[in-house]
Amino acid sequence: MEKLLQSKFKPSESEMEYFINSYKTLRMPMDFLSYKWCPFEDEENMVELCVHMMKDMLEPQLATNDPLLFELTCIVRNTYRDLPYHNFEHAVGVMHCAYIILKRNRGLFDQIEVTSIMISALCHDVDHPGLTNSFLVTINHPLAKLYEKSPLEHHHYYLCYYLLKNFKIFQHLDSNEYSKLMNNIKNNILATDLAVFLERRRNILKLKRNKAFNIISEPDRSLMKSILMTACDLSSTCKPFPPARMYTEAIIKEFYEQGDKEKMLGLIPASIMNRDLSARLPEEQVRFYVSLALPCYSLLVQIIPNTEQLYYGCLKVYFQWQLEVDKKSQPVWKVEESYLSAE
Ligand SMILES: [Zn+2]
Repeated sequence: MEKLLQSKFKPSESEMEYFINSYKTLRMPMDFLSYKWCPFEDEENMVELCVHMMKDMLEPQLATNDPLLFELTCIVRNTYRDLPYHNFEHAVGVMHCAYIILKRNRGLFDQIEVTSIMISALCHDVDHPGLTNSFLVTINHPLAKLYEKSPLEHHHYYLCYYLLKNFKIFQHLDSNEYSKLMNNIKNNILATDLAVFLERRRNILKLKRNKAFNIISEPDRSLMKSILMTACDLSSTCKPFPPARMYTEAIIKEFYEQGDKEKMLGLIPASIMNRDLSARLPEEQVRFYVSLALPCYSLLVQIIPNTEQLYYGCLKVYFQWQLEVDKKSQPVWKVEESYLSAE
């Protein structure tokens, strides 16, 4: 594993030289400090922009080591597969959302937490195969045999763990700091499983109902960082409608490919994975926004109030999907009917 990460994914010397030179003349995108920015707008500069975000957020020992940051970013980029959605562009988008939240809330997290969130966001889907956890379990995939829960997220975390260990990027940390960093990264990456999000959301709501939620205590901080990770992971749902729709179509493309595999195995795919039911997409999206995306951002606002732009962005996209449903005059889901909002 370590050898594999070192050889196959390492950037060439000329590639490294190209990026380091290109960074010197990098012009920041106009809307880079807004949640609306999408990585495809500056696709050719995604590596440089990742390094820029890390230089702004990581501890000085790392932030000033440009060659190291470029090498790390290139290796991570090369471990993402060429998929319609779970690709390097998605990682950059998730990291960008984390960057904006952290930049607007300096002091809310300590340096180890900030570093762990940035690295987790960048690495959270490395080597994603474009299949869901439940499908991996169904087909008895080796990853599903290896990890009892969240097989994909465990795989992403362990790749990230080996990458960082092999890269010796955190040599300046003492052993306590290093283990805090890795524990944070593990919590953050495992939190990107939506099943984990639903569980942690229930925990936070229960604590809040009992007025017992305390962001200073470590278990509650962990919950807060988990919600932050999901919010960043789903942040394409908060973009203006055209790109939000484009990202939806990209993930649906992956879903349909899995649906095709399921049909070949004689299984009945969920309707969102079934290309024969593509006319139901707006209803499926309304259902997704009501049961997952909106509850995620409304909870994030309760914990980190100045993230309300994400919530309103998400709400606008939800209304657009709802409009498409209304045009078809079919039964719809409503926010107030969500089983989640009743909790
Ligand atoms: Zn993701």
